[in-house]
Amino acid sequence: MRLKDKVAIVTGAASGIGREIALAYAREGAKVAIADLNQAAADKTASEITAKGGVALGVVMDVTNEAQVDAGVEATAKALGGIDILVSNAGIQIVKPVVEFPYAEWKKLISIHLDGAFLTTRACLKHMYKQGRGGSVIYMGSVHSKEGSPLKAPYVSAKHGLIGLCKVVAKEGAEHGVRANVICPGFVRTPLVEKQIPELAAENKMSEEDVVKKIMLKETVDGEFTTTEDVAEAAVFFAGFPSNALTGQSLVVSHGWFIQ
Ligand code: NAD
Repeated sequence: MRLKDKVAIVTGAASGIGREIALAYAREGAKVAIADLNQAAADKTASEITAKGGVALGVVMDVTNEAQVDAGVEATAKALGGIDILVSNAGIQIVKPVVEFPYAEWKKLISIHLDGAFLTTRACLKHMYKQGRGGSVIYMGSVHSKEGSPLKAPYVSAKHGLIGLCKVVAKEGAEHGVRANVICPGFVRTPLVEKQIPELAAENKMSEEDVVKKIMLKETVDGEFTTTEDVAEAAVFFAGFPSNALTGQSLVVSHGWFIQ
């Protein structure tokens, strides 16, 4: 058990990558807060964990809502005994050309990814610094933290921004033993990606099959999607790493789509 008795909070953990990370953390012995937009969705993942004998808590949290973030982190710390790991994972995707992108949709996406990362980080760092037992902050970046793609201006901008936030948190957190790192997955077949396939097909005037082959998986080494399990394994590795030797880094998990 690589995370025995650690307390983790995972945002966007009712679905996809966040859910898989929460399940993996629980298997590794962590107590996990499932933070998501509504109680029913958060409770569903939490009950999957408790059914297997783990400890989990569903927390209502819109990561763009300062009061909800502060209250959710506070409630988690109180119920589970502090905060050791934050996975800032909640996210959405909106695809449109820059020239047509509505400002409101730009701001919504940027806010969920960047304001959400900032607010959850700030709330969790307060606990980590006070507790004096170190901590690990993990941001869910993307290959789009390193690379651009058409139709994804706010997403690519936000994902690049997370790398900047991570670098600052790594430097500020070091004296408290708090590490910060970014995971950069390739395409993972979650609801976020399933929704994108028909949208990209329409924007690019191609079939959905071609979107998968010619856009999503074209540059991978083996034509395969990254899986939620692949990303969760990286999240366990970062969370369990025992020292400041591994901080301020970003790790691409993408079947070789992006090779540095
Ligand atoms: P998903 O749609 O399956 O899950 C996203 C979760 O975030 C949902 O449960 C949703 O309710 C929650 N969420 C959305 N807005 C929120 C908010 N304001 N506050 C709290 N929760 C909110 O998507 P996913 O693919 O699992 O994506 C998770 C993260 O992984 C995102 O940051 C995404 O950008 C990133 N990512 C995904 C892929 C991919 O291919 N799926 C690749 C790279 C990075």
